[in-house]
Amino acid sequence: MAYKIKEDCISCGACADVCPVQAISEGEAIYVIDENTCISCGACADTCPVGAPEEN
Ligand code: SF4
Ligand code: SF4
Repeated sequence: MAYKIKEDCISCGACADVCPVQAISEGEAIYVIDENTCISCGACADTCPVGAPEEN
């Protein structure tokens, strides 16, 4: 199961920097995770200051 970023995202970009497979990119409103690339390592959730990435 891939991770998904909730609306709480403040677009700081920290998660994109730590994702080992570059699955995270800046979307129109918030950052988004490509569910086909995400390997569910949890690094984004560990790094996010507002707990926005959640296991889907
Ligand atoms: Fe990237 Fe891991 Fe977050 Fe998936 S769970 S988006 S692989 S950092
Ligand atoms: Fe959004 Fe959290 Fe990623 Fe920052 S680390 S861009 S707040 S999901």
